[in-house]
Amino acid sequence: KLHNQLQEYKGNIRVFCRCRPLNKSEVEAGCLSVVDFDAAKDGELGILSNGGGSNKKTFKFERVYTPKDGQVDVFADAAPMVVSVLDGYNVCIFAYGQTGTGKTFTMEGPEEDRGVNYRTLEELFDVARQRAETYTYTISVSVLEVYNEQIRDLLATETSSKKLEIKQDSEGFHHIPGIVEAQVENIQQVWNVLQKGSRARSVGSNNVNEHSSRSHCLLCIMVRAKNLISMECTRSKLWLVDLAGSERLAKTDVQGERLKEAQNINRSLSALGDVISALANKSSHIPYSPADRDSGETLSSLNFATRVR
Ligand code: ADP
Ligand code: MG
Repeated sequence: KLHNQLQEYKGNIRVFCRCRPLNKSEVEAGCLSVVDFDAAKDGELGILSNGGGSNKKTFKFERVYTPKDGQVDVFADAAPMVVSVLDGYNVCIFAYGQTGTGKTFTMEGPEEDRGVNYRTLEELFDVARQRAETYTYTISVSVLEVYNEQIRDLLATETSSKKLEIKQDSEGFHHIPGIVEAQVENIQQVWNVLQKGSRARSVGSNNVNEHSSRSHCLLCIMVRAKNLISMECTRSKLWLVDLAGSERLAKTDVQGERLKEAQNINRSLSALGDVISALANKSSHIPYSPADRDSGETLSSLNFATRVR
């Protein structure tokens, strides 16, 4: 029975929805929230249109976090999923949404109110310590950015001219040859590594926020586990991803570099939408590799994924 429960739990895509508070400038401009949280406890979110309650579109999620929910509340749901990486499962968490909706706040968070990334590693170290009699774990992290379909290693001390690429090894594991994998032994080291990655993200861009809204930022946590009784070894990965802003730039509004950026973001989010739809449908063909076409509305794909879950 436990096995069945685990299978059911592991296979599913879970979608959580977080809504940030109205910010200062929105309040000052007299904006009102169009979000209805009346059924938030049941994972339902309503969007009111035309300033009236008469026209409400509802969405259903695994859970809805209201502006009152904090980082601790969000992490409480992420914790069991991230911990399963210690059991040998691969896990991936994405933050998806328009620029300014709180993706980076949720994943990274400010120093005094840290987000999922830091809390995850803290939790992994805690659980690893509790299991020290039975398992030894080796944890290492990579931090990378994908901008215009190019991978940049945010932990590399020197910028190499060699293009980083994703390869598959003979055992079917994906890896990026040449990427820094920083082994971390305690949470202080983790913080230093995360800070380093965060600082590197802004290097070479004149507007940090603008740049980060156009690139995907990925934290990969690699775990090697050894069962001290059976001597069995496993390795697994946990990806924590802060995606580029999902807003669609009208192609007529942008030119040059901007247009290229917009097309790359649209294409990658659209490919991700296809992958998620296929996973949600449990179809036999999962289009993991980004197809070279600019089709499919990302939002509708994700919308779809939330309904067929
Ligand atoms: P994104 O990464 O999606 O573009 P950010 O995470 O940068 O958005 O958030 C935009 C702004 O809103 C930031 O100033 C951030 O501090 C603030 N913010 C986002 N989510 C919350 C929240 N849940 N509570 C308080 N402030 C938030
Ligand atoms: Mg951001």
